[in-house]
Amino acid sequence: MGRACFIALGANLGDPVATVNAAIIALRQLPHTRFVAASSLYRTAPVGLKHQPDFINAVVAVDAVSPAPTLLQDLFDIEARFGRSRGVKNAPRTLDLDLLLYGDEASDDPRLTLPHPRLHERAFVLAPLAEIAPDLFIPGRGLVRELLARCADQQIEKLVSQTA
Ligand code: AMP
Repeated sequence: MGRACFIALGANLGDPVATVNAAIIALRQLPHTRFVAASSLYRTAPVGLKHQPDFINAVVAVDAVSPAPTLLQDLFDIEARFGRSRGVKNAPRTLDLDLLLYGDEASDDPRLTLPHPRLHERAFVLAPLAEIAPDLFIPGRGLVRELLARCADQQIEKLVSQTA
């Protein structure tokens, strides 16, 4: 048995729905992990810099055997494959992947902070996370569904799945 891990996906350039769907397929194929679940896709207005396209967000759950830094590097590799350019904070991006939780591991290393330091206050993370793990407890923060209830002021729209 590996560690229960949750990964947040976000995209707002090009065709973000296609990007997030393709990234979910890439996450299904991560080495040394077992895919558990993927949320629906959600549309949210950007945080921070306002004059940029809406984001498409989702959360994926995997069981991981690889150590957390290896898993994060695998996520960076997927981001790179999708052509993300690093630069301005909160700037438009092709694909952003964040490791939300790696089991119950806690870390304040700035290269890998666990649980992810802003997950508990962002509806675009909490809404998809609540869909696949409503009773998950975020160490030091609380239950996912209770944290989401506190973000009621943040607009978020669940997309109806567009399978052909
Ligand atoms: P961002 O541009 O906001 O996606 O931040 C990427 C940077 O955050 C990278 O340098 C990562 O090493 C660092 N980082 C710290 N904790 C995490 C985490 N839990 N998931 C993803 N990146 C993280």
